[in-house]
Amino acid sequence: MEDCIFCKIINQEIPSTKVYEDDLVYAFKDADPQAPVHFLVVPKVHIPSANDLKEEDQALLGHILLVISRLAKDLGIAEAGYRIVNNCGEDGGQTVGHLHYHILGGRSLQWPPG
Ligand code: 5GP
Ligand code: ZN
Repeated sequence: MEDCIFCKIINQEIPSTKVYEDDLVYAFKDADPQAPVHFLVVPKVHIPSANDLKEEDQALLGHILLVISRLAKDLGIAEAGYRIVNNCGEDGGQTVGHLHYHILGGRSLQWPPG
């Protein structure tokens, strides 16, 4: 989608540090990391937010979680634990309108979030 930062990252129009890529998803390091390990997993199709998910996205969403599980192991944060975050909409703190999952690890995280 035009004017979407994450679509531009997926299309290599904006540089990023790639963590993983396949036909369905792209994973890259967050530009403003909030933990020693902080990367984002995004679907390659432009879905604005969790509010826009449809029945037909079920397999894609399952795939995203499996990719996250695998990458957490590969990056060495699985055993100690980590957090998967999806911010949705204004109150959720979403700043980029392309569905994305934050994966944060490498330190003890507080709960509840602010
Ligand atoms: P949100 O606030 O929407 O949940 O998360 C958006 C995230 O995208 C933020 O953590 C922010 O640091 C990250 N981000 C925004 N623009 C860029 C960019 O151009 N490159 C990378 N790698 N991350 C970005
Ligand atoms: Zn997009």
